[in-house]
Amino acid sequence: MSGEAQEAASEEGRPARYDARSIERKWQAVWAEEKTWEVPNPGDPGFDPGRPKAYVLAMLPYPSGEPHVGHLKVYSVGDAIAHYRRRNGYGVLQPMGYDAFGLPAENHAIRTGEHPRVATERSIASFRRQFLDWGISIDWSREIATHEPEYYRWTQWIFLRLFEAGLAYRTDAAVHWCPKDQTVLANEQVIDGRCERCGTEVVPKKLEQWYFRITDYADRLLADFDRLESWPEHVVTMQRNWIGRSEGAEAVFRCEDPAIDFPVFTTRPDTLYGATFFVLAPEHPDLDRLIDGTANADAVRDYVAAALRQSTGERGDAEREKTGIRLERTVVNPVNGERIPMFVADYVLMEYGTGAIMAVPAHDQRDFEFARRFELPVRPVVVPADGAEVPDDEAFVTQSEDVRIVNSGDLDGLTPADAKRRIIAELENAGRGRLAVNYRLRDWLLSRQRYWGCPIPIVHCPDCGAVPVPDDQLPVELPDIEDYRPRGRSPLATAFEWVETSCPRCSGPARRETDTMDTFVDSSWYFLRYLDPDDAELPFDRGIADHWMPVDQYIGGVEHAILHLMYARFFTKALADEGLIGVEEPFANLFTQGMITREGAKMSKSRGNVVDPADYVSRYGADAARTYVCFMGPPDRGGDWVDEGVDGVQRFLARLWRLAAEQTAVTDDASCFDRDWQRRTAGPVRELLAKAHWAIDKAGRDFERGFQFNTVIAAVMELVNEAYRLKDDLHGDGDGDRALRFAAATAASLIFPFAPHLGAEAWELLVGGRVWEEPWPTADAELLASDVITLVVQVNGKLRDRVEVAADATDEQILELVHASERLRDYLAGREPVKEIVVPGRLVNLVVR
Ligand SMILES: [Zn+2]
Ligand SMILES: [Zn+2]
Repeated sequence: MSGEAQEAASEEGRPARYDARSIERKWQAVWAEEKTWEVPNPGDPGFDPGRPKAYVLAMLPYPSGEPHVGHLKVYSVGDAIAHYRRRNGYGVLQPMGYDAFGLPAENHAIRTGEHPRVATERSIASFRRQFLDWGISIDWSREIATHEPEYYRWTQWIFLRLFEAGLAYRTDAAVHWCPKDQTVLANEQVIDGRCERCGTEVVPKKLEQWYFRITDYADRLLADFDRLESWPEHVVTMQRNWIGRSEGAEAVFRCEDPAIDFPVFTTRPDTLYGATFFVLAPEHPDLDRLIDGTANADAVRDYVAAALRQSTGERGDAEREKTGIRLERTVVNPVNGERIPMFVADYVLMEYGTGAIMAVPAHDQRDFEFARRFELPVRPVVVPADGAEVPDDEAFVTQSEDVRIVNSGDLDGLTPADAKRRIIAELENAGRGRLAVNYRLRDWLLSRQRYWGCPIPIVHCPDCGAVPVPDDQLPVELPDIEDYRPRGRSPLATAFEWVETSCPRCSGPARRETDTMDTFVDSSWYFLRYLDPDDAELPFDRGIADHWMPVDQYIGGVEHAILHLMYARFFTKALADEGLIGVEEPFANLFTQGMITREGAKMSKSRGNVVDPADYVSRYGADAARTYVCFMGPPDRGGDWVDEGVDGVQRFLARLWRLAAEQTAVTDDASCFDRDWQRRTAGPVRELLAKAHWAIDKAGRDFERGFQFNTVIAAVMELVNEAYRLKDDLHGDGDGDRALRFAAATAASLIFPFAPHLGAEAWELLVGGRVWEEPWPTADAELLASDVITLVVQVNGKLRDRVEVAADATDEQILELVHASERLRDYLAGREPVKEIVVPGRLVNLVVR
């Protein structure tokens, strides 16, 4: 026996040292053996139709290497919510799967020659092992991986349903091409003109590609934000802006030579008379025809080539000096027949509207700057109603109603609103325009020229065109290939035996589609497959899906605010329209967890500041690592990883374990829960019981208040501290020991969602049985420390926060709590109050300048 081990054994033979890892292994074995977290579907044995359901889902991981600290956080947060819901009486479904297709595994294959499946499955095994090691309460019977044919068979099946519904189509268009990844990208995957994945500047390329018609759902995607119970406002705003709905008019400007109609979208049809020139985006498809045979065609081509080398972000930069080139063509303004000159300029983007604008320099700042540069006329058509002067060194842009239309024929004197109505009516009568709604959203480009993805189940027949693979021939399995290198077309094209096939319709020779699907397709419906993962007839059974859907609580990173979340919303609506599911929104509530940094910096291999969760779990235990990531700050905010922080949490858990171990040794009945007895107590016994009820009350409220886990954990810490403070007084006295036991059992019960192994162990020591089968505790109003009061905190007289303080707290103690409030710190943003006023029993007011 080593000296350390001798020290670790107390007189009763019970270990006196908190051995996190052996406690964790013990409970993990129980959960695996008893399949504790598996939950039945409707129709399964043990299903209780009377029990409310809660589908708690953290976004599925992309398996690459080992899990990182962001995974530790998202699954710790999800697990705390799952445990809390279970103990509040819900039948909780918390599944796990892997978003297993994608470029990193394929790029690894290109470097090493190892099949992407091998690296992916090795990584999946690591992820699974660590999730088990962390003790996350997952229903493992529902595990899925999107690269398995049993899964992607149904991704293909859903693709075909969308194809039949006209929601998947193939067309030729200018697309974003990543030269490094040798594949096209969806608009959503281009960030400031760069590839979202590798940062390379994207270039435009004309290619035949597959699209999902998500634009058909633009209005429903907007309207149904009303159906969502609780989504972070900024996520909704980001999606709204991405969809970018604006109302206005389409007006058609005609070029007479060559004869081409150019529709433009404008939100300000009332300013049509102010159009003094016309601008095309460099990508505009009619440009070649327009410049053909003109004297400056080469100069225009040079300008376009230079413009296309710039990123969208650079081109959209309002501060930049405007550039452009004049075409030797004109267009006719549909409202007044005026011929105005045409330009190409890079500040006009193909993505917005029609890739062409009527320029109204008097009322648009960019047009104004361009007009200045090229000495073009500026013609005001909106002026202040009171005749006030407007500055002539910038565009006059106003939302005011107190303006009138001028220089616009018989519209003069009208308000802009009336002028809009008149102009739209005139355009419609003349067949030169109409009322129109424009969206920034474009159809979702889903095909990729890469290997490691779900094959698109289409066969190209010279006679029949694009023919769907019949359902009974699914899945179209990915063939194995020798060379993964992309060469501008899908590596699948080299799998000749696989490519050559026969047409399902006419049996003639045909070729398989060689593009694969964007991995965002795989993750747009995975939450439905968890519900019915072994279904061999359908992707999921409608009855089962209708029981579990929508996801009651979705948890993930804000980086998915647009792509994944919008695609999943679109899929859910399309599946609902097909009658496959009864809900139109997949995620009723969304929680976005903040990012963990280290020493204030984003973690990255190059900085060498990456926290490897496995390291900390083996050193401190899973419970300490999990509790720490939930404690480091409100989970929806970021937090900075500090090693001493984990250490501190580990010491707290050890103190709680010792308290439980000691109390087990001195009392052995569970009567400490007797409320009548608790209410009859007084003195320090009552003080400790009151503290425990205060912690119960606070934990419940903070769980409900947007999962403020850091303050829940802080409350349990306070309770444990109070027990240690009073321990010497209470120990050995019957009532005192019962109070200590109640305090320790309460702490075990409340810490369980974060530190499930220790919570289970301490509860078993103190009370016996399984803490996860216990209802979440409720506080006794009579025992709630009445000497705690809530003070309102104001800044400059406006309510900004509330703090809980002891009724007899001094002003200094109160101000100390106020200064510790994270919310206020954020709000003050470094401003020091010039005055601090405490109104006893009511409020604190901070005065800042
Ligand atoms: Zn790239
Ligand atoms: Zn055919």
